[in-house]
Amino acid sequence: MSTRVGFRSHDLSLRAQISRLHDLISDARQLVMRTAMLAGDMQTVMVCSANAIRQSRYLAPLAIRGGADDAGALITALTSYKRICLDCCAAKAGMSPASVSGYLEELGKTVIVQDLATDACGACGTIGPTYSVL
Ligand SMILES: [Zn+2]
Repeated sequence: MSTRVGFRSHDLSLRAQISRLHDLISDARQLVMRTAMLAGDMQTVMVCSANAIRQSRYLAPLAIRGGADDAGALITALTSYKRICLDCCAAKAGMSPASVSGYLEELGKTVIVQDLATDACGACGTIGPTYSVL
């Protein structure tokens, strides 16, 4: 009798464990399906976001860069002041300081761009490296 109760107890425990495993498997399947649905939703959101970004470019197009416009704006900035620092030159030309440096090297091949190490900038007054066109 005691062995039979023990067997039943063991059997119930085993049945409970199996039932618990079935519940866990069912939960896992639901989580996998939910994850797949969320991944699909995330893809949809990413596509909608890309479309919104693309459409916003039509409303506020990016500034046209490159070509003679940048060099022209840079020359205008350089010639507007006797001496001008790199940051002011970039701000006046609407360019990044790194791209101004590249353009200054290019301009130096055709016109004389003087690098004055310790002059005051004509635009902001900061003392430091300034440039001028001779
Ligand atoms: Zn300056």
